[in-house]
Amino acid sequence: MRGPVIAIHGGAGAISKSKITDEIEHKYRASLKEIIDAGADALRDGASAIDVVALAVSMFEDNPMFNAGKGAVFTHNATHELDASIMCGETLRCGAVAGIATIKNPIYAAKCVMEKSKHVMLISKGAEDFLRAQGFEAVPNDYFSTDIRREQLEIALKSDSQEALLDHDSDHQASPIDEKNKMGTVGAVALDAHGNLAAATSTGGMTNKMAGRVGDSPIIGAGCYANNNTCAVSTTGHGEHFIRSVVAYDISALMDYKGLSLEDACDEVVYKKLPLIDGSGGLIAIDKDGNAYLPFNSAGMYRGLGYATGSREVAIYKGEAI
Ligand code: ASP
Repeated sequence: MRGPVIAIHGGAGAISKSKITDEIEHKYRASLKEIIDAGADALRDGASAIDVVALAVSMFEDNPMFNAGKGAVFTHNATHELDASIMCGETLRCGAVAGIATIKNPIYAAKCVMEKSKHVMLISKGAEDFLRAQGFEAVPNDYFSTDIRREQLEIALKSDSQEALLDHDSDHQASPIDEKNKMGTVGAVALDAHGNLAAATSTGGMTNKMAGRVGDSPIIGAGCYANNNTCAVSTTGHGEHFIRSVVAYDISALMDYKGLSLEDACDEVVYKKLPLIDGSGGLIAIDKDGNAYLPFNSAGMYRGLGYATGSREVAIYKGEAI
């Protein structure tokens, strides 16, 4: 076994490297490194995979540069609706929340649903009532707002479509992966010292989404899946396509039923199956033996890979080592 090991992603999308400053790129790499170091150090110190993926995702949620928690994208109604999920590969227990608006760290909300309720998924007001009863503090919905996300919504609203974002041209690029073409979900997968796998995913969804729209991120089997017999997977991409392809579970099923390696199973889904329906994005995955794979069919994906007692690397663009 090559573990304990953690992989993270902070969204996938197109690239406009020419428009970003070294300083901004450095900020993204430093954030990824901080998260991968925190996760790998926790694994080294004996933390469980489930606690480590929650920790890593909560750090993304607190960082306004990523589309989860603070810094989440806006809905069509200029509000934020957040989705998250988490799964334990040892027990197959899992938890998810969708359409929540006032909980600071949706990933801990999903973990609480897994640990404290008899259900797998809770949504909107019912979820928030449950979470407050469990001691979660509420934040105002505009806690999640940032200027750059508001600007992205305004562009999209001009033609009332996601596509408007693709047409807009700006000389000011605020992130290495082009915000106009970026899917910004965050996620983590880990294998701990006991051989247990876990996966976690969190998102603000997609800019200008309809109120009530739920993507793949909180759907167990689509945006998140973990099973100690196969692998742990967290995805980022156009949610509707990832739901249709049941991406995360499909990879586990290919390993389970067809005996494919992690890499072959991921290649099948990311490079063959998803493109058939224009499914753009990527995923991070670790198998039960500690092999990690971070494929994407878009031009870039914020990503990191760290071993408890080995290398810790981060990357953004295609062609970088991990
Ligand atoms: N998968 C997310 C969603 O559709 C978006 C993303 O990955 O950025 O909500």
